[in-house]
Amino acid sequence: MSERVIPLIDQRLRSLTAQVPTQAIPATGLLGDALGRPLRDLRISVTDRCNFRCSYCMPKEIFDKDYAYLPHSALLSFEEITRVARVFVAHGVQKIRLTGGEPLLRKNIEILIEQLAALRTTEGRPLDITLTTNGSLLERKAASLKAAGLQRVTVSLDGLDDAIFRTMNDVDFPVADVLRGIEAAQAAGLGPIKVNMVVKRGTNDHQILPMARHFQGSGIVLRFIEYMDVGATNGWRMDEVLPSAEVVQRVHAELPLVQLEPSAPGETAERWGYADGSGEIGVISSVTQAFCGDCNRARLSTEGQLYLCLFATHGHDLRHLIRGSASDAELASAIGAIWQGRSDRYSQLRASMPPDQSTGGRRVEMSYIGG
Ligand code: SAM
Ligand code: SF4
Ligand code: SF4
Repeated sequence: MSERVIPLIDQRLRSLTAQVPTQAIPATGLLGDALGRPLRDLRISVTDRCNFRCSYCMPKEIFDKDYAYLPHSALLSFEEITRVARVFVAHGVQKIRLTGGEPLLRKNIEILIEQLAALRTTEGRPLDITLTTNGSLLERKAASLKAAGLQRVTVSLDGLDDAIFRTMNDVDFPVADVLRGIEAAQAAGLGPIKVNMVVKRGTNDHQILPMARHFQGSGIVLRFIEYMDVGATNGWRMDEVLPSAEVVQRVHAELPLVQLEPSAPGETAERWGYADGSGEIGVISSVTQAFCGDCNRARLSTEGQLYLCLFATHGHDLRHLIRGSASDAELASAIGAIWQGRSDRYSQLRASMPPDQSTGGRRVEMSYIGG
């Protein structure tokens, strides 16, 4: 009998233990990393599970019925997440994005949203709370998410052609159900809604124009994402990346565009408006154009590990502090010390690196820390 070969992809054991530094680092809202970048955006993964198997994220051959997902006891509880989020907010975070895996699979996610919505920034303002979803449960949940205090959603949709979409999500999920989820989110007031489309050359790039036409004039901002070399399981190849510049060219040729100013510092998407004023699109060029210079994003994994970069090879375990005897001030010092030591800028360095040399090919999976 032949043995099944399981690639070494489990990043979850590879973490550094976060330490409370001897000198306190109080949360003043002014924390900067080693390159002077502030901490403004926290992405929290609430589950490592998903009901889709997008080949660029959770390929079926790896994430099969034998895959060892985290046990419930390993996940941070809503109270633990809210406590650690409060500390991040005191350090300057203004925006929280819930992600996963598929965040709407986490039971009673509305309760977490209610708790996070009660937090205030260091200037006393409510946080900007948003969520990225594959849209499969959105029709059912949009109203309750809004009532809980969620402001906006980003929905992932890789095309309008049903056959292509069913193949890309690899669970035969229809486009129509995601579109109904988007409509429900609009009706519930979860806007401005963004739609994320990962573009893979040769797979769904012919969907760029149909998608642009579909969302033009709808108030929804369609964003084209370059297929990224995240994780170690998706078999990424540069020749499958369609550079954003080409996406813009293709749309511009049919639907004229003008470039718009970025909406905020550290914004990942380059904005383009339709020349006739009928809305805008965005392009996220994480492969062809590095935007590490003002990257103000931290990521908290489902089990409480802090990641400083989407392409990090290890996290910093905060859970032992959260579940141990550390006070909020000690937790703030530990997080402060980790952020102060941050010099990650993978996308900027990628161009000059031989493939996988800096990471040994062992990067954290996107489904584990979210997008
Ligand atoms: N399940 C939710 C969803 O799909 O929206 C949230 C988590 S998912 C990891 C977050 C985002 O990452 C999605 O918009 C997805 O398309 C994007 N993503 C996943 N793998 C990617 C890759 N290899 N390159 C570019 N984007 C990717
Ligand atoms: Fe699931 Fe989102 Fe990853 Fe697709 S991109 S497999 S929907 S987590
Ligand atoms: Fe930020 Fe890392 Fe992405 Fe650069 S590569 S923008 S540091 S997450």
